[in-house]
Amino acid sequence: MMSDWNKRTKAVHHGIRRSQYGEVSEAIFMTQGFVYDSAEAAEARFIKAGADEFIYARYGNPTVAMFEDRIAALEGTEDGFATASGMAAVHGALAAMLKAGDHVVSARALFGSCLYILQEVLTRFGVQVTFVDGTDLAAWQAAIRPDTKVVFFESISNPTLEVVDIKAVADLAHAHGATVIVDNVFSTPVFSDAVALGADVIIYSATKHIDGQGRALGGVILGTRDFIRGTVEPFMKHTGGSMSPFTAWLMLKGLETMELRVRAQAASAQHIAQALAADGTLRVIYPGLADHPQHALTMAQMGAGGTVMAIDVGSKDAAFALLNRLEIFTISNNLGDAKSIVTHPATTTHQRLDAATKLELGITPGLIRCSIGLEDPDDLLADLRAAIG
Ligand SMILES: *Cc1c(COP(=O)(O)O)cnc(C)c1O
Repeated sequence: MMSDWNKRTKAVHHGIRRSQYGEVSEAIFMTQGFVYDSAEAAEARFIKAGADEFIYARYGNPTVAMFEDRIAALEGTEDGFATASGMAAVHGALAAMLKAGDHVVSARALFGSCLYILQEVLTRFGVQVTFVDGTDLAAWQAAIRPDTKVVFFESISNPTLEVVDIKAVADLAHAHGATVIVDNVFSTPVFSDAVALGADVIIYSATKHIDGQGRALGGVILGTRDFIRGTVEPFMKHTGGSMSPFTAWLMLKGLETMELRVRAQAASAQHIAQALAADGTLRVIYPGLADHPQHALTMAQMGAGGTVMAIDVGSKDAAFALLNRLEIFTISNNLGDAKSIVTHPATTTHQRLDAATKLELGITPGLIRCSIGLEDPDDLLADLRAAIG
């Protein structure tokens, strides 16, 4: 039975829809629409499409459905909706269920674009948002109200790597009937146990570890069938944030190797973070290190520290000099990629934020985010050490 398979088997086979040609690799159904046998058949499908019937690629497509079924099976949710980018997933999940007057509690330490949606977009439509320190359970407890509709956070924050206790926050949220939406990018589908911990809706930017090879933007919203088909799909199919069939095919290929890639990248990140911390020349932030404030929680929640670490070299000048001396690491702003990537958040991904907000979030001038790729970890360590000088 497909549902009894372990994750690695599901990642390769789950949800395949084979055409009459019996292709081995998943087919790319590069079509915007679908032909009906009769006018009556068209009418019937618009009234209610069957499980394997499609209408228009903005609503759904067989290649996209394969990706949705496979990633939902890996995460352990009933269903999923694939989106054009990670941000389309974050915006879609929130906007599909919120209305003017609703209250949201969100962690403050967020990816810049997530913060934009919560701070600038939702509030423009009359949603009230309270921001809290995501690592402070007392702050969550104080902020969540009987009328709170949604609780939102990144399970590991980008780029400061603060880890949120999914179960504890979900328990507080559920006591008031709020829906828990987790942006789980840094935890990755490989190390995620978010469903068991109480997350109701899980979001991934597929651009990151799912593709993992820097090719395409994509995202996915995962949750119950009711939520995905009853709340998310109507919103997404009418507002246009769906994933393209070609992207879905890339993501299916990505899922086949994701577990091997992510485990290797996380092992390298652990090795490099430990070695740099032992050198003692700069501050190393990595949830897999014993001195990380949420180290024990990370190990209980994920069993690994993830594929991203951060270092702080004290100043913008020192950070830029280090970035410019690296030979293997590329200066870019993706993460989870086969290629190791360094990012200076203060001047790029989080540039938009004012100086006070950056400091409040821990985005210091000397902070460098390092996404560890698939190169030899000792080559990466040597590259970093040479650049640190
Ligand atoms: C990258 C990222 C996103 C956005 O994903 P895109 O695919 O770039 O739109 C959202 N949340 C987190 C935590 C991310 O790292």
